[in-house]
Amino acid sequence: MKDAVRLPHVVIIGGGFGGLQAAKALAHAPVQVTLLDRRNHHVFTPLLYQVATAGLSPGDIASPIRWILRKQANVAVQLAEVQGIDAGRRVVRLTSGPGDAEVPYDHLIVATGATHAYFGHDEWEHVAPGLKTLEDALRIRRRVLLAFERAERETDPAAQRRLLTFVVVGAGPTGVELAGALAEISRHALQSDFRAIAPETARIILIEAGSSVLSAYPDDLRAFARRALEQLGVSVWTGSPVTSIGPGRLQVGAETIDAGTILWAAGIAASPLGASLGAPIDRAGRVIVNPDLSVPGAPNVYVVGDLATVTGPNGRPLPGVIQVALQQAECAAKNILHVLKNETTATFVYDDLGNMATIGRNSAVCDLGRIRLKGFVAWLAWVFLHVYKLIGFRNRLSVMTQWAFSYVSYQRSVRLITNDSAIDSE
Ligand SMILES: Cc1cc2nc3c(=O)[nH]c(=O)nc-3n(C[C@H](O)[C@H](O)[C@H](O)COP(=O)(O)OP(=O)(O)OC[C@H]3O[C@@H](n4cnc5c(N)ncnc54)[C@H](O)[C@@H]3O)c2cc1C
Repeated sequence: MKDAVRLPHVVIIGGGFGGLQAAKALAHAPVQVTLLDRRNHHVFTPLLYQVATAGLSPGDIASPIRWILRKQANVAVQLAEVQGIDAGRRVVRLTSGPGDAEVPYDHLIVATGATHAYFGHDEWEHVAPGLKTLEDALRIRRRVLLAFERAERETDPAAQRRLLTFVVVGAGPTGVELAGALAEISRHALQSDFRAIAPETARIILIEAGSSVLSAYPDDLRAFARRALEQLGVSVWTGSPVTSIGPGRLQVGAETIDAGTILWAAGIAASPLGASLGAPIDRAGRVIVNPDLSVPGAPNVYVVGDLATVTGPNGRPLPGVIQVALQQAECAAKNILHVLKNETTATFVYDDLGNMATIGRNSAVCDLGRIRLKGFVAWLAWVFLHVYKLIGFRNRLSVMTQWAFSYVSYQRSVRLITNDSAIDSE
């Protein structure tokens, strides 16, 4: 009997935007793919803030990775946390658990992304959670809703004021979206539900160390975004680096803000797996990859997405956005196929399709190169693009229905405080 031909084994670490796209790009290639992720689901991160602010449920914006790739016969998905990469022996080391502790590869794509950085103050994280995962979003939703509940019971006006003060640190797209949504909840969704407090008097403060909100956008869109936030009732503090954070308070230079809820949307810290490759990394821990996205000194290893750093045409690193991750994943997958055919690998060239960020319930900014949109038209473009990009018909239908309901009723349908211990522990 003839031996079965052993196909080259491509291991992909991460089932986020980069990892998933790499797997799809290898669909018809003569390779066997194993995709490893420590979570069983892929999250559509642009809508995480909607889960955090009670607009959508977790299931609306996430899908099981195994289900997404179910029709792709050459991919096996494994739920596993990767602890390190031994590029010399060409193995990926898993944390303990069922199954082999090591997965050998012929070619490796690392797409484990990045999270927020607390600029050397990791102790701030407990007080000021960031938004990266579904768990983070649910934690934030709990804190926000609990703050209003506690304020309703509170009899001391100063403590009540503190509970009704929400601070978001970092005015990039996530910070802007969170602050806008918090303003919308307090001014509209909760307005008539309480008796002892007036939720619409809640203070929402957006704090940014840099000189403007949405620093990656052109001047006119930045100015528009700031005005739109202020019209929603958000106080925008720019040029205001946070110097300390503790339970219930935050220091910005000489100013102390008493705030019951502090949310963090600043800084980038790459996944530690980048450092385990032994390749050069930047200050955020991102791997400085070769022009073809391979890793210096680690043969057959590619890094894509937020974990990689590539200099763009303006001399600055490309931003950590979905388009970069998707295009890099395509490029890395193609380069693996080039190597298999003994062809020269291709240099990664980024095609910038633009950026968009939403501000509250019906305003947004879109920077599409020569076309710039703002206000309601931009918001419509944002809505259609995000519904279109969601994975799965059920999710699209569910999100569209909930958005339509919220739009006409000003309500937020998922105002649930879950987790038994939440009332005392948060
Ligand atoms: C709240 C938020 C909103 C955003 N909004 C936008 C937006 O509107 N537009 C936009 O373009 N970009 C947005 N981004 C950025 C965008 O999400 C990232 O650029 C993109 O996800 C990067 O893709 P990636 O594949 O590199 O990493 P990710 O998508 O983060 O995927 C990383 C994957 O690796 C897995 N993983 C990590 N470590 C391990 C390990 N040790 N072992 C196994 N698995 C591991 C994770 O579970 C995850 O599934 C947003 C990000 C956040 C957090």
